[in-house]
This record gives sequence, structure tokens and C-alpha cells, in this order.
Amino acid sequence: MTSLIDRFLKYVTFDTQSDPSLGCCPSTKGQTTFAAFLRDELLSLDLQDVTLDDNGYVMATLPSNVEYDVPAVGFVAHMDTAPDASGANVRPQLVENYLGGDIALGKGEQVLSPIQYPDLHQLHGHDIITTDGTTLLGADNKAGIAEIISAVAFLIEHPEIPHGDIKIAFTPDEEIGRGADLFNVEKFAANWAYTIDGGPVGELEYENFNAAAATVTFHGNNVHPGTAKGKMVNSMTLAARFQAEMPADETPETTDGYEGFYHLTTAEMSVAKSTLHYILRDFEQDGLERRKAYLKNKVATFNQGDKTERVTLTITDNYSNMREMVEPHPHIIEIAKQAMIACDVKPNIKPIRGGTDGARLSFMGLPCPNIFTGGYNFHGIHEFITVQGMELAVNVIVQIAKDTAIRYR
Ligand SMILES: [Zn+2]
Repeated sequence: MTSLIDRFLKYVTFDTQSDPSLGCCPSTKGQTTFAAFLRDELLSLDLQDVTLDDNGYVMATLPSNVEYDVPAVGFVAHMDTAPDASGANVRPQLVENYLGGDIALGKGEQVLSPIQYPDLHQLHGHDIITTDGTTLLGADNKAGIAEIISAVAFLIEHPEIPHGDIKIAFTPDEEIGRGADLFNVEKFAANWAYTIDGGPVGELEYENFNAAAATVTFHGNNVHPGTAKGKMVNSMTLAARFQAEMPADETPETTDGYEGFYHLTTAEMSVAKSTLHYILRDFEQDGLERRKAYLKNKVATFNQGDKTERVTLTITDNYSNMREMVEPHPHIIEIAKQAMIACDVKPNIKPIRGGTDGARLSFMGLPCPNIFTGGYNFHGIHEFITVQGMELAVNVIVQIAKDTAIRYR
């Protein structure tokens, strides 16, 4: 499967870092350049309905090769890389047959060490693609793109493998939370889809947080400190008291797995006015509502006995757990699970402690769990991926196409 690795190594040469400070879509020009390159590659594979729309979304169809009706399955990956680390001049290095120990990253002082990243212990004998220590790698999510295109190319070369319509889409600006914004679900016309945007081999995710944000504002009264007795209300004192009364064991640093949290992200403070910004996360909708109620009650307690509203609260909902949209269609998970098992991959189903574009797409009518790419340590200079993991991702995509066709025969 050299073409898989060739594709990947070519794709990471495009600088497609997205930029949250820019309002356009795609947010950066590099993504448009990459999108045009991908469109041309899809055209050269003779795929149908190849389009690159004004917002930078690339879509294409591999038409069904069977006589009967099979649901259309989609595969989705994103073209941008995270703003957290540079994605320009990526110089990947291939370490063949990794035998353990530290891997020097390029000529710099950075190393990829199993002491820091114990996952490396499981990868002896694998071929590992790393950065040169100065940029991210961009396996998130160019590995997903290379895997999807390689799987489609494989299906084209093997017409004896049955499949229904296979829909593929590459989206801009996922890393800045906008990848689903202008996704044309109707045009994509898939019955369901998978993002190929996960980490280590076996990852299969269809649960994510329900998310809301809360702003608590404390209105003080500023008076010259020399004559403040009985008059000054220092809003910072109120804010500090409020934060001290938040559940200390329900924060990001004290929770994992299926546990939710309250997280104080930023604060602005002065005597006259202080504002605390929280994000609330919970895998259960009830749980999220309970967290909102906790804040409301706490604010009410702070206002007790005050004629004016000393403390005000606004809450906005951000995103929801896709499980609600995926669970009514258990075959979507079952097909992915069985495809992994058929490819000698042990499915590792775990909740995403965040949100994904797949979650937003699920609520837009396209149920969309997430599948592994084979990559590790996304968004930083220690990002790496294994050739073997990428090959398994291709196999799983092909197997999903095949199993879906067989299931509906
Ligand atoms: Zn990603």
C-alpha cells in the first residue's frame, strides 16, 4: 500500500492550519489550495459528482456496483490542522521497524520518548511517521483523507468487492469548530457516515459531551476605599466566594471517563464588576440540566435579601451528545464493530470528552460516529502515526463498504 503513504506524505506538505480569528470559510487560503488538489485527485480516480463548493467542502461519490438497493454510507475527514502548532513546512520522517527507545525528531533537541508516551511500547516492529520536532504532523486529519481515498481507490481496483454508493466529504475548519456549519447534508445524500478522525487503532466513538456555557456576573459598588465602610461592595470578593462554593471534585482535573464537570475557563475582575465564565459538560442531558440548576440556585442564594440583582447569570447551550441520534440506528455501530473484528482490529468503544463535527452532523440528520486513523498526540510536535495503523484504517473502510452491501442483499 505504498500509494497510501505517498498520499499521506504529499498531503502533509500543504499548510492548511485554520485560524479562528478569520470569519471566512475556509478560514485560510491553504485549505482552498488543498481542497482543489483533492478535487483533482478524486476526478482522476473517475469518481462521480466530484464538487468543490464555494465554502471549500469537497464531495464525491463512488457509485454502487450491485443491482439491489444498499444504503449510501459516507466517510468524512477534515482538511485543516489545529492552530495550536505550526502546520507549515512539515518534514515528516519515517522510522521503519521501530525497536523501542527514544526517537530523535529531526536535527533539533526534541525526542519522542516512550517514557513520556508509553503507547510507543506497544508499537515495536511498526513503521512510525513522526515530525521533525518543529511542527505538528497533520495526521489529524490528513491520515483520514489518505485512508478514505486509498480505500475508494482499492474498491475501484477490486470490482469483485460489492458495495453500495460510497459518499466522501472533506471539510474545512474542523479544528476551529466550524466544520459542520456549512456542510450540505442534503447534497451529501448519505444514510449515515463515519468521520475517520480518531486516534489509535480500534477507536470507535459515538458518545460525546452535552455542552453548555455559563456567564456569572457580579455587580459591586465602588467607593473610595477611605470612605468605603458600609458602602463598598467588592464584586471580586463575591466572585471568589462563588467559585469556592463550586463542587471541587467536579472539574476537568478531577474527572475522567463518563464523569462530567464545571470548568471555570476565564474571569474578568474589578471592584465594580466581575465576570466568571464556566463551561458545563455532562454525558447525560439530565446531568447537564442538573448542572445548570445548580448554578441557578447558587445565584439565587447569592441574591437573597438583596433588593437589586447582585449576581446575574446567562446560560447558552453549545452541543449535544450524538448518542441520542446514533443509538436509534444500532446497525451503524454494529457494522463498524464487525468490520473491525473482520480486519483483526479490537474495537475500543469510548466516550469523547469533547465535541466533534460528527456530533453536529448527527443532529443535522447525518448520524456520524468516529473511527480511528492510527495516529497519536494530535495538535503538537509529538504527533505521530504508524503505517500499519493507517493500513488497518483502509481495511476497515473497505470492510464497512462490503459488509453494508452484504447486509442489505
Ligand atoms: Zn481531527
